[in-house]
Amino acid sequence: MSTPLVINGTSIPPGRRTTVELPAGRLYTHAPINIPVHVVRGRKDGPRLFVSAAIHGDEINGVEIIRRLLGNSLLRRLRGTLIAVPVVNVHGFVNRTRYLPDRRDLNRSFPGSEKGSLAARLAHLFMTEVVANSTHGIDLHTGAIHRSNLPQIRANVDDPETRDLALTFGTPMVLNSDLRDGSLRQAAADADVPILLYEAGEALRFDEPSIRAGVSGIIEVMRKLGMLPASTRRRKKSTQPVVARTSGWVRAPQSGILRSTAALGARVHRGSTLGIVADPFGAREERIEAPWSGVIIGRLNMPLAYEGDALYHIARFEGTDEAEQVEASSNALGDWSGDDDEPSLV
Ligand SMILES: [Zn+2]
Repeated sequence: MSTPLVINGTSIPPGRRTTVELPAGRLYTHAPINIPVHVVRGRKDGPRLFVSAAIHGDEINGVEIIRRLLGNSLLRRLRGTLIAVPVVNVHGFVNRTRYLPDRRDLNRSFPGSEKGSLAARLAHLFMTEVVANSTHGIDLHTGAIHRSNLPQIRANVDDPETRDLALTFGTPMVLNSDLRDGSLRQAAADADVPILLYEAGEALRFDEPSIRAGVSGIIEVMRKLGMLPASTRRRKKSTQPVVARTSGWVRAPQSGILRSTAALGARVHRGSTLGIVADPFGAREERIEAPWSGVIIGRLNMPLAYEGDALYHIARFEGTDEAEQVEASSNALGDWSGDDDEPSLV
């Protein structure tokens, strides 16, 4: 006898595949606005995994990741339940913006409340209808507008099950994160639902390698959870991901035009040059140097910066031999550490 699954009053029996609409209020015109949730329930009972995207409305890589995941024929052999929510922040998605119409960040509004702001109500709806019906979760994100992220998993690696799933996903980099910031990740973890956050690519763009890595990462996690059969093909020997305990942003030392020399995924050592910011004539140049050794996991793509703007996000490895870790990440990063977009300094 399998446990019943009811989402927004709709009962989904084993072996059924269906779309449920979560009512997210109305527009000014009074037209209803819904969050579509696609549920794939296997015949056999098993874990219930939610996969969500576009909680930041302009982060659309994850929407495509979910579309491809749902089209995968492997799901015919699903054990347990996949709850896919490709567009959580429908308002932001329609307006091509990260935020809600009340300028709140949905991913800072969890766990939310029934009678709070629009953001709080949507967060509450997601918690009660999706998270409460799940045993595990994966939330898909990208970098902000004009910023790219190296494919990475952010997770609380101090929790053994979460760490295990994070390493299974297969990105070259796992970043430890235990922030208490009102995010879905925090609220799900507080509800004892282990959750991974996948970060890859840039807002309002499709990035093919990030999309592929996202789809295959989710499938690997589902195999690990026993939701999908183990792969019959031998996986090519993948290198163990590097786990970074902390990270930080390097900011522009002055306003100006940025010539970036350090690529996304590049290993950098303390003191190495990341780029140069200068006035339009190149008379007042300032070199930007890496304040610590690590790997560039996020980068501003736009060559214009105000003093203080965040330019490079560098993962750092504390409590270990930094040089050794940076070297190890070199193997793990493999193809990701591209140098194809490295402009010359001239
Ligand atoms: Zn995001």
